[in-house]
Amino acid sequence: MNMQLSRRQLLKLTGAGAAGSALGAFGFGGAEEAMAQAVRPFKLARATETRNTCPYCSVSCGMILYSLGDRSKNARSEIFHVEGDPDNPVNRGTLCPKGAGVLDFIRAKTRVKHPMYRAPGTAAFKQVSWDWAMDRIATLMKEDRDRNFIAANKDGVTVNRWTTTGFLAGCATSNEAGWLTWKVTRGLGLIQVDNQARI
Ligand code: SF4
Repeated sequence: MNMQLSRRQLLKLTGAGAAGSALGAFGFGGAEEAMAQAVRPFKLARATETRNTCPYCSVSCGMILYSLGDRSKNARSEIFHVEGDPDNPVNRGTLCPKGAGVLDFIRAKTRVKHPMYRAPGTAAFKQVSWDWAMDRIATLMKEDRDRNFIAANKDGVTVNRWTTTGFLAGCATSNEAGWLTWKVTRGLGLIQVDNQARI
């Protein structure tokens, strides 16, 4: 009989056959047969892939997050697998143990998912909206800059410094976002600019 097999079919057959033979050697005859007949579904077959950047350190390795849920309006996405992005030139598919364990961080009950605000003189944080947080930050930055901006030093040399506010940028951003962060903060005259990746 002339039987044409694709590469995928051959791998399925030989994989199931090898596992079945091993079981047979241990005397599990029925199990051997069942295993040879069953084709295990690829666990990522129905997953939605999302590319992202590892949040932990300045290497900023590329990641692929696999989630169930097709992103339709009422579907709740659930990330169930993370691996290195083979197309990312930084890490080419690899992740260190910390990045490889990022699923624990994603699922942590203590993970902060919203902006939190603690008003002066109070002890507790309360959840606020992103719009409220951005307005509040912009207002305070403007007030402080208006009060403390130094256009020239005592010798009259233009310095354009703003030394009373600091800016801490996130490391899980692209080169382009990092470049923009630098441009905006230096353009405002900020001196104390650092990145979470160095902490
Ligand atoms: S995977 Fe490891 S090396 Fe890569 S960014 Fe994350 S913590 Fe850094």
